[in-house]
Amino acid sequence: MSARVAKVEAFSITIPREEVYLGALRPGEVANARGYFVRSGNRTVYPVYDRSVLVRIETTDGAVGWGETYGIVAPGAPMAIIEDLLGPFVVGRDPLDAVVIHEDLYDMMRVRGYTGGYYLDALAAVDIALWDLAGRIAGLPLAKLLGGQRRNEIPAYVSGLPKPTREARVDFARSWKDKGFDAFKVAAPMLVGDIGEEIAALRAGLGPSARIAVDMHWEYSAAGAVRAIDAMAPHGLWFAEAPVAPEDVDGLATVAAKARVPIAAGEEWRTVFEARARIDRQAVTILQPEMGHTGVTEFMRIARYAEAHHLEIIPHATIGIGIFLAASLQATAALRNAPFHEFQHSIFGANLRFIDGDMRCAAGRYHVPGGPGLGVAPSAEALRLLKS
Ligand code: MG
Repeated sequence: MSARVAKVEAFSITIPREEVYLGALRPGEVANARGYFVRSGNRTVYPVYDRSVLVRIETTDGAVGWGETYGIVAPGAPMAIIEDLLGPFVVGRDPLDAVVIHEDLYDMMRVRGYTGGYYLDALAAVDIALWDLAGRIAGLPLAKLLGGQRRNEIPAYVSGLPKPTREARVDFARSWKDKGFDAFKVAAPMLVGDIGEEIAALRAGLGPSARIAVDMHWEYSAAGAVRAIDAMAPHGLWFAEAPVAPEDVDGLATVAAKARVPIAAGEEWRTVFEARARIDRQAVTILQPEMGHTGVTEFMRIARYAEAHHLEIIPHATIGIGIFLAASLQATAALRNAPFHEFQHSIFGANLRFIDGDMRCAAGRYHVPGGPGLGVAPSAEALRLLKS
């Protein structure tokens, strides 16, 4: 009999930041006793530090796989779901049955309405760890298990230009252009003044070849988003991301029908059903699944559904130590409809110390980590910081 899952453990890790995510706190933005504050622009809560949740799965013969999920707020929630509920149902299973186990765990809570949120975040971490294990048992990179590895490098776009003035944002983007990057995304809530002039300034500073996208952070009405995109489009806009509220599928469809640039969405989704609801309405042209929310199994379902509709995948990259990012790069390397991957400059380099493996991002390209499974594992420094 092949090895079985023997142990499932969840951990959190907290990492101090020099500057908070999306740039320094602005007037009225105050951290509470738990280290949380609300951004006045997108009204979203962030912590003043980085935090993540990891899962370690060990088999009866001692093989180990690692998973990770989104843990920046209330990390105890997915940890409790993993330790109390999911883990005991995974013990005894064959680690090569990742998709089957995912389906079984999803089914356990679906009629209660737990088809998203923390339940699926916890499931994503378990799913990634099982896929990592499967690759390690097979002695193959995850991309090979997902159908084949098309490439070991993936173009990266620089995400966020968190500087207080337009001039500083252009200079910051140029500093990355000097390092070999030629694709950028600016966050609309960070801007003061005319959004069209912002794109014009970036275009002037970065030249005609640069790809320039905008993340609209779900802040606009459909009509307002169309007007804003109309102001930006003349300066060459790669895509406009998250123009309207996440729940506003009608609004997203309206924007996609009227705007002259591709509309991107999907970082908050956890299943193909959320993708399907937008794709079937022609409300989105670029899908941005976040591996930390979807896990490998749902990420690939979303990617294949997009592929069947001739749509592109440009995966999201959020705050983590690099485990789910490695999974995202492995999955992206297996896809023909994924031309770019997001690159979080404020997180990636600083957190490389938390993983072992050859995952890198330089000169505008990610290097997909080699070796079996995800190709990365928590470093000794990360292991010291894990809290159960
Ligand atoms: Mg975004």
